Amino acid sequence: MYMIFDDIQPLFEEPLFGSDPIVLAGPCSAESERQVLDTADALAAGGIRIFRGGVWKPRTKPGGFEGIGSPALQWLGKVRERTGMLTATEVASRAHLEEALAAGIDVLWIGARTTANPFAVQDIADGLAALPSGLRESIPVLVKNPVNPDLELWIGALERIYRAGIRRLGAIHRGFSSYGKHIYRNPPKWRIPIELRRRIPSLPVICDPSHLGGRREYIASLSQQALDMGFDGLMIESHCDPASALSDSAQQVTPAELAAILAGLRRHTASSSTESLSQLRDSIDRIDIELLELLGKRMALAREIGRYKREHSMSVVQSGRYNDLMQNRVDDAARLDLSADFVSNILSAIHEESVRQQVEICSKQD
Ligand code: PEP
Ligand code: MN
Repeated sequence: MYMIFDDIQPLFEEPLFGSDPIVLAGPCSAESERQVLDTADALAAGGIRIFRGGVWKPRTKPGGFEGIGSPALQWLGKVRERTGMLTATEVASRAHLEEALAAGIDVLWIGARTTANPFAVQDIADGLAALPSGLRESIPVLVKNPVNPDLELWIGALERIYRAGIRRLGAIHRGFSSYGKHIYRNPPKWRIPIELRRRIPSLPVICDPSHLGGRREYIASLSQQALDMGFDGLMIESHCDPASALSDSAQQVTPAELAAILAGLRRHTASSSTESLSQLRDSIDRIDIELLELLGKRMALAREIGRYKREHSMSVVQSGRYNDLMQNRVDDAARLDLSADFVSNILSAIHEESVRQQVEICSKQD
């Protein structure tokens, strides 16, 4: 656990989300005033509280739609005025940061390509450090994972932003680029965000199923997995007309589709999860007791065999028998999804204890 992150504050004032997952939604890119306002109106009507929209778009190759830039910031301002939603956009440099804040953007995020570059992150951090303290302490900043699966680089970027004085700090998991063909656009490698949560337990982590999956049909199941794993929220791309989107068309959903996805998700409130958790723990307790009773029975049999060996002057360890037993059990275990290593460790510990008890019996004087 990192001591440096000892004062992370909630991302948003209560009761913006209460115990519900945080949801940010909006188009990949702010393309036109009409598209931004139509999408925002529909999202607001569906209860979305934070509107995302990319103003400056990092593109893999030149020539794609690189975002509208500064004029789009005004459209986000209109969204806030007419819907009351908070607005969020991506900043990739100190200049972006300053423009976004001057336009009154409420939430900032650092994109995956930027997080991978410590110079760019430090440039943004320097801009944040220079803000008046009130703004610096109240502006939420979300750091997407770097495109490459490098947890240290992700934590490094979070640390630069935290050291700049940002206290409403969060992370966004959007998956990792990977060469070759994959079902998902950016494979999740869930171990990495889970390890991030273990290392910085107070850091809110939001899942971005749109960039993870790359296709709208994966959004619901990836969102559910994220909630099941205890993520704090979701960032989902939504466009009033996904087919005509200028970027990430295949992964955007209409506001109505988004509402249906969100309505279909199983939430985990603190009390329902503790309830089902305590039921699961009860079952584990029962199984542990059964395991102990079975071990007791097994040892009783081993002692009986020990007495037999003693009466017949046999040696305690019959290595042929031990090897056969090990092989058979490891084969059985594989059918139960238990790893060979795990089972052979347990069996060798049990066998060692049987041998110890048999040696005790055989070495007893009459
Ligand atoms: C985005 O959110 O539209 C975006 C560009 O995401 P990422 O940085 O995760 O690729
Ligand atoms: Mn996008």
